[in-house]
This record gives sequence, structure tokens and C-alpha cells, in this order.
Amino acid sequence: MHFLTPSLTSIIDDRTLQHQVQIDILRLDQLHPQISGNKWFKLKYNLDESINLNAKEILSFGGAYSNHLHALAFAGKEYGIKTIGIIRGNEVLNDTLNDCKNWGMELHFISRENYRHKTDEEFLQSIQSEFPNAYIIPEGGNNALGRKGCEEILSGIDLSSYSHICCAIGTGATFSGIINSSIPSNHILGFSSLKNGLYLEDEIRNWTHHTNWFMIHDYHFGGFGKRTNELIQFMNEFNQLFNIDLDIVYTSKMLFGVFDLIVKNYFNTNSKILVIHSGGVQGNCSLSLK
Ligand SMILES: *Cc1c(COP(=O)(O)O)cnc(C)c1O
Repeated sequence: MHFLTPSLTSIIDDRTLQHQVQIDILRLDQLHPQISGNKWFKLKYNLDESINLNAKEILSFGGAYSNHLHALAFAGKEYGIKTIGIIRGNEVLNDTLNDCKNWGMELHFISRENYRHKTDEEFLQSIQSEFPNAYIIPEGGNNALGRKGCEEILSGIDLSSYSHICCAIGTGATFSGIINSSIPSNHILGFSSLKNGLYLEDEIRNWTHHTNWFMIHDYHFGGFGKRTNELIQFMNEFNQLFNIDLDIVYTSKMLFGVFDLIVKNYFNTNSKILVIHSGGVQGNCSLSLK
């Protein structure tokens, strides 16, 4: 597969000028037309591992708008490995799931109640016995290999020039990889897309030994996948101002937070902020927001 080197886009407006901060956006959304953003980093070592183990299939979990399953389905097609998606809820097919299906992913829908057990040992064993040839990747690609891949997101970046690095959080795999590959002078800020994401702080402490990070819980807009008119308006204004598409689940919430904190003088003057655009814009098509 061919990947582009993500560019850095500087964004400047009245708010950044008035508060004397600089923002660069790392455009992981430009990495690949289908496998956008952070998902490739979480998949790459998992794909290698499935090949090492001679697995015939790769199975993973996600909601009906899952960027992770979308990326996995495409990667599976490219690698010639069969993929299986276990989908939360009895959803009708949307653009995301249609792509998955067209790229050869076998879709299995399970009830929300059942899906809740997706990390239980017993549940995973029953899935493994149903699909004995499958290499199983957890929801969101969040395992040790996924987090290891995310340590490469910042490669090639001059880290010493940034005071802050901002990143959206779902499972926390991307955030952990960024923390682990940062230098002590970087403050890593993670913006949770979940309403009750406090538990993630304990998990992240297990996944990294660095302490230069802080999680922000104020910009979930009602919870995971939830959105308000204010958020949709922000996303559209951002696109008009800077000609950059954001997704509604993660990156809109993070950038809303970044600008809100700028206006509230959270950042000292002359802060230089690197914002990770983790991609995910494909999901907006399914949500009819594009
Ligand atoms: C999946 C996703 C995330 C969340 O990544 P985690 O590693 O699960 O925290 C963030 N942004 C976008 C656009 C995503 O698709």
C-alpha cells in the first residue's frame, strides 16, 4: 500500500493572533484515501502479526460507523486476508458498512448487550471457537501492537519546537503512543470523546511510563457519538476558515476544545501547539453531514 507523508498545516486566525499562540496540524487525514489517520498505525503491526501466526482471517469489533473496521476491511483486501467485523447492534447498512462489505469483510451483528462483553475472556473464547482461524484485534485496534504502531505517528516531527501536542481520545491507544514517543518538554493533551472517560486515565498509566500528559473531559458534547448543533456549526465554520474537513466524533470535539482553551487563556503566550488530525472524515458520509 502506498502512504503519503502527512504534511503540517499552520492555521492562523483572530484567536491565535490575539492570544499569541501558534497551531500546526499534523494531517494524518491525508495519509491514504481509504485508511485515513491513526488507524493505519494501530493496524500495521497487527497485520504483520497475523501473517507471522499464519492466521487465515482477521476479526475485530466496532460500531456501525467504525473507522477502525473500515480501515481493517480495506487493509484486508489489499493484503489478501479475509476480515470479519463483529458489529454492535442490529444496524442497517450505512456507507461505512457498505464499504466494509464491498471490500470483502464478513459482517456479524450482535446485540448491544452482548457487545458489552467484547473484552471478557469467556466471550472472546466463544468468538475464537466460532472463528478458529481468526487473529482477533480488539475494538479500535487497541492492543500492545496497536499502541506500538502509534509511537510512529510523530516520527519526522521536530518535537523540541512544540510546547503542546493535542490528540483526540477514543480507546486511548493513539494518545498512549504519542505520549511514549514524546520528549519531556512536550505537554500532551488528550481530549476525550467519551462522557465517562475518567477510567481511561488508569489504563493510560498502565500503557505509558511518562507523566507529561493530561486528559481533558470537558468536550464530549453529551457522550461518544453524540453531537450538538453548536458542534456541527463549529465543524462547518472550521472547514470554511481553514479548508480542512474534521470528523464529528473525534477531531471536531478536540479542535472545539483547543480553540475554547485558547480563548480562555489556558495556553501561555508563545505556546506552539501541534494538533493531530487523526482522520475519520469518512464517517461523516455515513452520518449525512457531508
Ligand atoms: C479511532 C479514532 C480516534 C480514536 O483513537 P484511539 O486510539 O482509539 O483513542 C481518534 N480520531 C479519529 C478520527 C478516529 O477515527
